[in-house]
This record gives sequence, C-alpha cells and structure tokens, in this order.
Amino acid sequence: MKASKSLKVVMVPWLAMGHLTPFLELSKSLAKNGLQVYFVTTPNNIARLPKLPPNLTSSITLVSIPLPHLDGVPDQAESSMDVPSILQPLLKMRFDLLESPISAFLEEVQPDWILYDFTSYWIPTMAAKMGVSCAYIALFNAASLSFIGPPSALLGNVRSSLDDYTVVPCWIPFESDIAYRPYEVVKFEHSVDARIATSDTVRFGNSIAGCDFVGIRTSPEFEPIWINLLEKLYGKIVLPIGFLFPDCNNDDNEDLNCDNWAFFKEWLDRHEPGSVLYVAFGSESSLTQEEVYELGFGLEHSGVPFVLILQDPPGSDKNVIDMLPEGFVGRVAGRGLVHRGWAPQVKILRHQAIRGFLSHCGWNSVIEGLGLGRVLVLLPVMNDQGLVARLLVGQGLGVEIERGEKDGALRSESVIKAVRLAMVEKEGEEVRIKCRNMTSVFGDNKLNDGYIEAFVSYLEENKKSK
Ligand code: UDP
Repeated sequence: MKASKSLKVVMVPWLAMGHLTPFLELSKSLAKNGLQVYFVTTPNNIARLPKLPPNLTSSITLVSIPLPHLDGVPDQAESSMDVPSILQPLLKMRFDLLESPISAFLEEVQPDWILYDFTSYWIPTMAAKMGVSCAYIALFNAASLSFIGPPSALLGNVRSSLDDYTVVPCWIPFESDIAYRPYEVVKFEHSVDARIATSDTVRFGNSIAGCDFVGIRTSPEFEPIWINLLEKLYGKIVLPIGFLFPDCNNDDNEDLNCDNWAFFKEWLDRHEPGSVLYVAFGSESSLTQEEVYELGFGLEHSGVPFVLILQDPPGSDKNVIDMLPEGFVGRVAGRGLVHRGWAPQVKILRHQAIRGFLSHCGWNSVIEGLGLGRVLVLLPVMNDQGLVARLLVGQGLGVEIERGEKDGALRSESVIKAVRLAMVEKEGEEVRIKCRNMTSVFGDNKLNDGYIEAFVSYLEENKKSK
C-alpha cells in the first residue's frame, strides 16, 4: 500500500536510544509506504543513529535542533544514557526547552500528523492550536500501560503513595499479577515526584488525553486482552503498530553504527550453534557494584558460554570491568567474552551460536530476543522492566532471576539457577520452545508490515482537513 506522497508526518521521540531507534524504524516503515517523514532530535542523537538506507534518504529528513542549556545537566548530555537515573527528570526538563523551537519548526513544515513520545506532553496543545492531527506513539506494551493507568488516574494523582504501585490497580477487571515489587518502586521514585520536575505521570496523562489516537508497539497475537482493556481505559482508538523489529543490515562486513562486529563474530563463530548466552542491560540501566559482582560470579560458575556487555555507570569515573570479581576476565577467557561499551546487539543475537538472552527486560531487547527466538533470562533493573518481566513470566516466556524479596538483592546462586534452567537443563525445554515459537509473532515481517499498513491507512483517512 502506498499513501499519497503529500502526507507529511513529524516524529518527536524522547531522547533515549530505546525510543530513538523504534521511532526511526517507524519512520522507515512509513517512508516505505510513501509518506514524507521529518524526524526531530538533537545533534548528538542524530550522530548516534544508524545510517538510513539510501533508498529512503529522500523521504526521511533528520531535523537537528540543538538542546538548550539547563543548569544541572551537562551540556553534552543529550540522551538518557548520558546521565544517571536520578538526573532523568532534569534531562526531561531540558527536553521541554525544545517546545518553542519545535513549535517554530511545525509552523514551517505544516505537517498532517505529529507522532510523539510520552515525554513531549506539550505537543497536543500545540497541535490543537495549529489544527494538526497528533498521535501518541506508545513504545510500551499494553499490559504495562494498563497498569500505569488511564489519564484520569494519571492526572488525578490517584496513587498517593509509592505502595500503590505494588498492588494491581482497581481498573484491571481480571486476574493479574502485574505490579511492581517494593524494591523496584524506590528506583523510580524521582520520576513520579512532581517536586523535581514535571513527573512522568503527568507526561503520560497529558500525552494520552490530548492525542487523536494511540499507536502502540505490540500486537493482538501477543496480548489481546490488554490491548482491548487499554482501549476501554483510554476511551479512544488504540492501534497496534506491530513490533518494529529492527531492520538490521545482514551484511557481516558492514555494521550499522559500530565497527566492532567483526570482533564479536570471530568469537561467536568459534562456538557451537545454540550454546551461548548473550548478557546485556540496554542503554541506560546500571547495575550496582554488588550486582555486577554477583552476576559475574554467577556467570562464571554457571558453566555456560557467554557474551557479557556492560556499560560504565553514567556520571561516574568507575570502570565497570573493575566491578567484576578480581581476575574474572582472565578466568573466563575462551568461554566468556566481556565487552565494555556499545555492542551490535541485534547482530550478536542473530548469530547462530546464541541460544539465550539474559536481559534487563527493556521492551526493545525483549522484542529483539523473542523476534529471534532466543530464550530469555530476566533480570529487571528499573523503569517499566519489572512489569515487563511479570508479563513475560506469566506467559512462560522467560526465567526470572530471583532477587531478595525485601531488598531486591541479587545473589550468584540465583543467577546460576536461572541461567542453567533456561540454557541447559531438561526442565527448561518448555520455556525454550515457547520463546522459539515467538519468532512468528515478534519477528514475522509480513504480520508486522500488516499493522503498519493499517496504521498508514488510519493516518490517511483521519487527518484533519486544513
Ligand atoms: N543497544 C545496542 N547496543 C548496546 C546497548 C543497547 O544495540 O550496547 C540497543 C538494543 O539493541 C536496544 C536498545 O539499544 O534496541 C535498548 O533498548 P531497551 O528497550 O532494550 O533498553 P533501554 O536502553 O531503553 O533500557
């Protein structure tokens, strides 16, 4: 299906790799369907994005708007991965300073649609003033968003204490165990605290309340009851846009945004098909000193070959490798590859040596792992990751590493137990099969292209006439 070339769409993603890349995937899908796309972000983020395929460069314009200065945030910090978790509210405040330049850009371009992320909660007012249609693009699954709640609950501040996040809310009409654990809640306290900056609660509430409809990165094959519920809770159309599985370059010799693929490939090629565990925690989740130590100890004693990707904690001068048990890298050499910094995740996951993925449960990582049929070992760290883990465990799509009930402490014995169950033990076969079968949902291009086509038709048929 090809939409009229005149349909102009402006994308406004949040400044986080886990949001920029799916928005870019969506841009590519829309461009392939004939739309003209303007992708708005800041200079450092444009530099981090993977290159656009040559056939789409005329349909996608990368719009670079400098991020104004805000006291308390380092000037070079333009993404959530550049600042520690505690500074995220200030980074969002800094992002809010883009409201005026983005408004000027929209006036100039006069798009048909603005597709925006939850942080830019000021877009609906802007769109209404201009008479332009706007859709909130939800990069979360429907179960997590249902738990977070409808706009009335978000804006009405119905959760008066952090404990309210540890119970299934009253608006979930069926049995569910999707709620945070007490030790998970303390990690996002700052992002729902309205005294620091506009809270995420208000950002979500306004983004949902003010849009013409919601496009959500999931599919009814995966969570039908949650999508239906969300539509009822929001009182507006919630259209699945599929999983936007990254359209990764398959050419081994040419990597998209990093030049170290050859290094990983050479190591992976030396391992048996379906034997290696890939271990990674996304772009913005940092483990504590104790967690890195216990994880390392657990991996070492699991006996399973692994690739371990770790990032230095942002805003600190610590080298994450020094946080591992002493002598770890030498002792595991040959069986375990340790890498500090950015890694070509999708390429690694795609390699035939990989069997499993020990993940922090970022929604992108889950999509990438299940899209390639890898068995998931779940270790949620922050944000919505605990909710994602509960959803997956409920569907038999992963083995969660047990943490201390009260303090959430990670112990190496739990790492060993979960890793061995998922990767080698006979009792793990059922979960391995279930995860493998998910390629037909998360990784099926035809199925997911169908959702994009329906989304494009919706944009075509429902744009405001000017
Ligand atoms: N990613 C990557 N290499 C890295 C770290 C992350 O390619 O070294 C990519 C990963 O493939 C995913 C995204 O960054 O697409 C991280 O998103 P996710 O939702 O998994 O986690 P977040 O960073 O949002 O916590």
